[in-house]
Amino acid sequence: MSGSFVISLDLELYWGLMDKKPPPSYVTNIEGVRLAVPKILDLFKSYNISATWACVGMTLEKEASDILSTPLSERPHYLQQNYSNYVLCEKFSSYIDSNKNLFFTSDLIRLIAETPGQEIGSHTYSHLYFLEQGLTSNDIKSDFLKMKAACQKNNIIKLKLFSLISFGHLLEFIFTNNFYP
Ligand SMILES: [Zn+2]
Repeated sequence: MSGSFVISLDLELYWGLMDKKPPPSYVTNIEGVRLAVPKILDLFKSYNISATWACVGMTLEKEASDILSTPLSERPHYLQQNYSNYVLCEKFSSYIDSNKNLFFTSDLIRLIAETPGQEIGSHTYSHLYFLEQGLTSNDIKSDFLKMKAACQKNNIIKLKLFSLISFGHLLEFIFTNNFYP
């Protein structure tokens, strides 16, 4: 059996680390995403390289209120609510709406989806932490449905299920619940 070399990249902007590095810390790195992604895509094109881009669904929205319109019952029920990007979105909503390029990037995700050989993966809608206490099966299901809806809204149809946030736990959830988004 021959091996495969797989390239997967996470596209999350602030949603991947806001709980650890609240804005405006890390701003320069986040701004760099917009410069880096088109250049990476150009390189992938010239060298004929395929990759999977695991995107956080919240990046597909347009403003904080799009996220905050999600009912409380459909948000993750972590015991430690400060891990929830919904809670952080509420806390930083005015910063988010005045710095949209650090949080939203449907244009970049569409560019990736339209580049040959690239596929869009789900890094979940809200950057879920599967091993966090309090998270329920319903929370996960709601998150998957939100991700699917966000992709449909943006005409991104080739969504692949993919998550690096505790992949084993995610698979266990899918098999025990017989659920595939
Ligand atoms: Zn991540």
